[in-house]
Amino acid sequence: MDDGEQVGKLPRGFCILPWINQHLATTGAISPCCEFEGEVANLSGSTLQEAWNSDALADIRKAFLEGRPLKACRKCFDREAHEGASLRLESNRHFSGWIERYGATETAPKPPRHPAAYDLRFSNLCNFKCRSCWHGSSSKWFSDGKAIGVTMADKAEINSFEDVDDFIEQVGEGLGDVEHIYFAGGEPLMMSEHYALLERLIGLGRTDVTLSYNSNMSVNAFRGQSIFDLWKQFANVHVIASVDATGALGAMVRKGFDWDTFAANILSLQQNCPHAKLQFGVTVSALNIVNLRELMEAIRREFRVSPGAIHLHSLQDPEFYRTQILPGTVKRQVSKELAAYLAALAEGPGPMEEGSGEHARMVRGIIDYMNGRDLSGQFEKFVRMTQRLDALRDEDSRALLPELAPYLGWSQKRFPRLLRKARRLLPGQV
Ligand code: SF4
Repeated sequence: MDDGEQVGKLPRGFCILPWINQHLATTGAISPCCEFEGEVANLSGSTLQEAWNSDALADIRKAFLEGRPLKACRKCFDREAHEGASLRLESNRHFSGWIERYGATETAPKPPRHPAAYDLRFSNLCNFKCRSCWHGSSSKWFSDGKAIGVTMADKAEINSFEDVDDFIEQVGEGLGDVEHIYFAGGEPLMMSEHYALLERLIGLGRTDVTLSYNSNMSVNAFRGQSIFDLWKQFANVHVIASVDATGALGAMVRKGFDWDTFAANILSLQQNCPHAKLQFGVTVSALNIVNLRELMEAIRREFRVSPGAIHLHSLQDPEFYRTQILPGTVKRQVSKELAAYLAALAEGPGPMEEGSGEHARMVRGIIDYMNGRDLSGQFEKFVRMTQRLDALRDEDSRALLPELAPYLGWSQKRFPRLLRKARRLLPGQV
């Protein structure tokens, strides 16, 4: 299946998720996926089943069948245009069984009675406060959020459901039909609801459900319950371990991160659950692209994984953290460094390794995304937020990002004329 092309009778740009997936945000918002901007309903005024059968979702499905791109899906189309990747393309590939079945039908595909997949965010509970995150996705962000004036509620922890029984009651018979559950957060491995749901699935004999995670892998147990002991009982487990840089830079970009703890938990996962599919999820932003090569090499060396285990994804929001905001000199330096990495991959034992081709495509996509747009007008915003968080967290990003240090020491507010002059003298570079 070529996921950029028409599949059977399905139009170009088709996305399978509105037919099979339900995304539940910590705010209670219900939508087809986590990239969709907006909601089709909210738990405050709708049940999951009502949302599944709602007119709002029917309209979204209709738009896809008529080949009408939705504004709410702009994140997917933006990444496809510049990076050649998106959640839409990945989901069409992942759920290819559904899409081929639908592509072969004569009439408009009908959604199943209940979602085949859930993307669950029980809460924003998290022990990290990554620089590009916010209070809506991390309880740990609450105090910094208050300091910069951006919070989602007047308390640190925000829950979508009262408890796991509330969720199970709403899913009802759907629990018998579900094929795939994706857990994110917050940090799902810290959430009691997540463990309770796994216990419930085991009790129902539903260990055939595929479990997927986006986890910071900083913990491997909850109240004495090892996550590995639970995962051993499920046939299909997929863990995307989030990591954005090694060492001190990793801890600055993702505050709370510790490489040694992460490495110990990954090695433990590899040992205890060899059946689990492990990938390393790297969100590529202005904060870590300069060190991306170092990170990719460290992952491959330390965890003895093939290049295919590294999943790269260009950060889109907030815009001022995008790689596209970087000065031209830094972009050129990064492009050269990543091209050298690709050359080494092609020359070394790498090409024969699993997933090398797809990995090389992702790295090229990351370079293309960065060079695809000039958002240097947002660089000043990036500098201001970096300085603000440095002060709040008592950190020094200049020491950890020497390539950006000349820009991080001053701001347009303080030196507006200097910046204007530099832009005049070095067009496209500052
Ligand atoms: S196209 Fe993208 S944003 Fe839209 S529903 Fe599909 S995955 Fe979600």
